[in-house]
Amino acid sequence: MGCRNSKAADTKENHESQDHQQSRSAATPSLTTKAFTSVPPATSQPYILCAVYDGDTIRVRRPQEPKGREHELRLRFLGIDTPELKEQEPFALEAKNHLLELLTGSIHPPKGEIGATVFITPPATGSAVDKYDRMLGIVYVAHEGSMVCVNESLLRKGLARLYEPTPNQLAPDVHRAFEDAQKDARKHKRAIWSLTDEKATVYTTTNGKAYHLKDCEHLRGGGRAGTVGSALDRGLAACRTCHA
Ligand SMILES: [Zn+2]
Repeated sequence: MGCRNSKAADTKENHESQDHQQSRSAATPSLTTKAFTSVPPATSQPYILCAVYDGDTIRVRRPQEPKGREHELRLRFLGIDTPELKEQEPFALEAKNHLLELLTGSIHPPKGEIGATVFITPPATGSAVDKYDRMLGIVYVAHEGSMVCVNESLLRKGLARLYEPTPNQLAPDVHRAFEDAQKDARKHKRAIWSLTDEKATVYTTTNGKAYHLKDCEHLRGGGRAGTVGSALDRGLAACRTCHA
């Protein structure tokens, strides 16, 4: 880990100077775009990983701060939503374990502070924290010699869904990469998508961001019928009230 990170720091300057010529693979290193993945995005900052809560929430601290709970920040992964561990939703544990493996190399992290270095990119626009005062960000980590975008990896494995309560917080190229990752997971029916019937009927409204079951309160008696697949294709997400 330390080795890779110091290598990353050495080549960061070079990375920044090339930034303008790099296409989207530069801005969104991932498991599948191996050509350019050895350094984190120029907009990211290093943090020390303290703990992993679940598939999309971790605790971190700035490297210049000393160890200690009072210096730790809760981070909610931007642009994705993983199944809830507390509610024992399917694939919640798999999502957490995938996160642990990427970030620590093991699903059994050491006791106390984990100590791995992660790189975090803040939202492209809008607030840097959510309504629960959690920092929002895209997380990158050095893994097997590549810089991996953890948010995208969870999407690609079918262990997270695209989730954007506030528009435009993902940069356009990152947004496209996340959409592609989810499409790939749906196409291969990975994890949570293995449980999704894309032909099932759901209901949508003209300006809504979610698709619903027929009786959902958010439809207020209205809504147009369509399939889950077509709603997902339009970038809509399952309603968090009716769990369509
Ligand atoms: Zn609903």
